Amino acid sequence: MDVTVVEHPLVQARLTELRRADTPSPDFRQALDDLSQMLVYEALQDLPSTTVRVDTPLAPTSGVRIDNPPLLVPVLRAGLGMLDAARKLLPQAAVGFLGARRNEETFQPEPYLNTVPDDLGGQSVLVLEPMLATGGSLAYVCGRIAAAGAGQITAVCVLAAPEGVAALDAAVPGVRLFTAAVDDGLNERAYIVPGLGDAGDRQFGQL
Ligand code: URA
Repeated sequence: MDVTVVEHPLVQARLTELRRADTPSPDFRQALDDLSQMLVYEALQDLPSTTVRVDTPLAPTSGVRIDNPPLLVPVLRAGLGMLDAARKLLPQAAVGFLGARRNEETFQPEPYLNTVPDDLGGQSVLVLEPMLATGGSLAYVCGRIAAAGAGQITAVCVLAAPEGVAALDAAVPGVRLFTAAVDDGLNERAYIVPGLGDAGDRQFGQL
């Protein structure tokens, strides 16, 4: 699997804020927003663009236009905290929402909200999910997106566990991953260790 760990000190400093157990929720959300913007920026390095003419106050010159931005898919609910940052960089991008929960009889993930089009016609997709833990939900989401005929699928995750990377790679080959760190592994409750705790609860509160 094509995994890029973004080692930039600004990324790692935000990750440190996220990891710190006593970072309050507003600061956690701000650090997640900052970090997401940097990860998405890295993930868009090969974004297709068209050369266009632009007239400055002094002279014509050439510039670029982004014609066909990727579809943004935040995975509910924790991925919502990455969406504003991605939209700042790609204001013209469409957004599809996908949320899945486990069916307690079949143990398979089932969507409770899905606004991703059934036919993506080769459109590239950026999936926003802070935590790649077991890989179950991300594999499900990426699988549905691939089945809808997506082009390149790129997952942007704050943290990944090696187990999740392997599971995602096995389930949906060809997905690219951009992350701030690949941690040691999962504990018995499938939390990433050292990790940062529950990314949803830390943003939205523990209900
Ligand atoms: N989801 C989280 O929010 N945190 C983890 O450590 C694993 C999954």
